[in-house]
Amino acid sequence: PEAITVQELAKRMGEKGADLVKALFNMDMMVTVNQTIDQDTAELLVEEFGHTIQRVSDSDVDIQKEVDSDPVETMRPRPPVVTIMGHVDHGKTSLLDALRGTDVVRGEAGGITQHIGSYQVTTKGGDKITFLDTPGHAAFTEMRQRGANVTDIVVLVVAADDGIMPQTIEAIKHTQAAGVPMIVAINKIDKPEANAQKIRERLLEHDVMVEAMSGDVQDVEISAKNKTNLDGLLDKIALQAELLELQARPDRPAEAIVIEAQLDKGRGPVATVLITRGTLKKGDNFVVGTESGKVRAIVDDQGKQIKEAGPSMPVEVLGLGGVPDAGEQLTVVENEQRAREVAQYRREKATETRTALAPTNFDAMFSSMK
Ligand code: GDP
Ligand code: MG
Repeated sequence: PEAITVQELAKRMGEKGADLVKALFNMDMMVTVNQTIDQDTAELLVEEFGHTIQRVSDSDVDIQKEVDSDPVETMRPRPPVVTIMGHVDHGKTSLLDALRGTDVVRGEAGGITQHIGSYQVTTKGGDKITFLDTPGHAAFTEMRQRGANVTDIVVLVVAADDGIMPQTIEAIKHTQAAGVPMIVAINKIDKPEANAQKIRERLLEHDVMVEAMSGDVQDVEISAKNKTNLDGLLDKIALQAELLELQARPDRPAEAIVIEAQLDKGRGPVATVLITRGTLKKGDNFVVGTESGKVRAIVDDQGKQIKEAGPSMPVEVLGLGGVPDAGEQLTVVENEQRAREVAQYRREKATETRTALAPTNFDAMFSSMK
């Protein structure tokens, strides 16, 4: 049910709050400016003051949330988006670094190009694969809670010398809950105590049946440290991706999901986003969460400025009004005014929600102050 405070209604009507209270008093209603009135009463008041009613619904102001699906003939294949999960110290970072081919430049001061954590590789067979560097399972589940299911395939890293550990099990559960296919990378096979077969057996206890155990989950033995069989892993990812028939429409205004974002001293708010459909271009106006912005620069995973980015590409975007949250959607809109209008509307709505959730009785207020 719609409700509005007398004060807010007065503001929208361009009248004094006290005048509305007086009018309500004449209608036998004793309310103060901070009290809320229902929609019918508000409409009576609006008419009383000779204003016309303009109903503004959510969908008039905000971007249409319904899935406006793209016609089949506009769809094109897109690279798979892969998230690497697994227990701490089992080799996730080592694998990401190894796959990228170079070690991520660490803590070097001044002038050196900083690469973004997520990147795309091209396999020997010419397939592109996007790897997301999301800090742990929390990011994965948090993003899912926001409805941002960007991961197409999970690579579960299990150290062959350590076995199935609590975070391995957690990763399996999240992946199964998300309905995302999994590839098991049995890592550290260079170690003498490595026992890959034991891992395959123990995985059965968690409903993960690899091909060698007559299941349909692909597994691969690797050493991130020695860069052993990384091509084998990439091939299995490409194979899995082919089965998924991943597609997106490239020739439309872009939509993207924020992977991470921060305030950069020199560059202002910067977001690493993953393009989910369309093509993001320099100069595009957009909304992301409660912020609006205009794309000032797009930086690819090599640290190079590019003019546009298409589906499944992870890129850095500059030109945001503020720092968005991970998992929020970036949507390109027609123009700057529209971007501002939607962002403003969302901010007002967020404030209204917070006010509505604030403690309304004194008991609650005091108990929360104890
Ligand atoms: P993460 O916590 O899952 O990101 O794990 P790291 O990538 O930080 O790796 C933890 C430790 O395991 C580091 O000391 C790595 O050098 C080591 N490590 C990673 N992969 C391998 C591997 O394939 N073989 C061996 N012997 N050590 C590895
Ligand atoms: Mg790590």
